[in-house]
Amino acid sequence: MDRTTIAREVEVEGVGLHSGLGTRLRMKPSERGIAFIKDGTRIPATPPHIVDTRLNTTYGVGNVRVGTTEHLMAALYGLGLTDLDIVVEGDEIPAMDGSALPFVEALGDAGRSPLGVAAAEISPRGVLRFGDGASWIEARPGDFSVSYEIDFPDTAIGRMRFTFDGRGFAERIAPARTFGRMQDVEAMRAAGLALGGGLHNAVVVDGDGVVNPEGLRFEDEFVRHKILDLLGDLWSLQAPLKARITAWKASHALHVRLAKALFEEHRGERA
Ligand SMILES: [Zn+2]
Repeated sequence: MDRTTIAREVEVEGVGLHSGLGTRLRMKPSERGIAFIKDGTRIPATPPHIVDTRLNTTYGVGNVRVGTTEHLMAALYGLGLTDLDIVVEGDEIPAMDGSALPFVEALGDAGRSPLGVAAAEISPRGVLRFGDGASWIEARPGDFSVSYEIDFPDTAIGRMRFTFDGRGFAERIAPARTFGRMQDVEAMRAAGLALGGGLHNAVVVDGDGVVNPEGLRFEDEFVRHKILDLLGDLWSLQAPLKARITAWKASHALHVRLAKALFEEHRGERA
């Protein structure tokens, strides 16, 4: 694939999942990779600039930070966009409906502009593995695939696995919404998180049931969303991956450890 940006500027507005405050994005064509621009500071969306992975993936330079980036980054992965200036007014990317679909649609409307330069692929040199028996992630050289498995005590989620081979992101992965457990919501709010969250932008699970009246978009929406998060975190590499990735009950912290390791392995090879 070629490095690609958008053909024209596009704006997206919404509410931040964690802050609960209004936030606005202006996304503009670029030839300098993907970067967030806030208060005049340019924050490259690369692994070394990921500064917080507590329930979301935050990029920063000094005190300037942009949070809840992962669903937008997943949309950029899905559309194969490698170059984009994302001007952010607010502390985080808007939650929209809790999935990547609104970003896929907005960026789709902006059109594509290939830069005429091949995007360098990244492949792990050997097996990379992080975590322990309770949760881990692994990447090995091979054709791209992600196989993710989760296991929750809530019977509404339970144990489920999904394998994504890179085809049909917009239909199979992008619509999967973020989710939370009822008993975690109070703890998150006490920690100043999820203040903008609700049934309009998250699936809420209470033991054996889904609280949302509309139900699920897929029977296995939860694990599809974990793949969405992982694809977004790995798109910090801003390059197609030649890797077979396997994850067991992983988290943003583990996704980002893998992204940082791949970045370090291939430092100096980037165009
Ligand atoms: Zn997510």
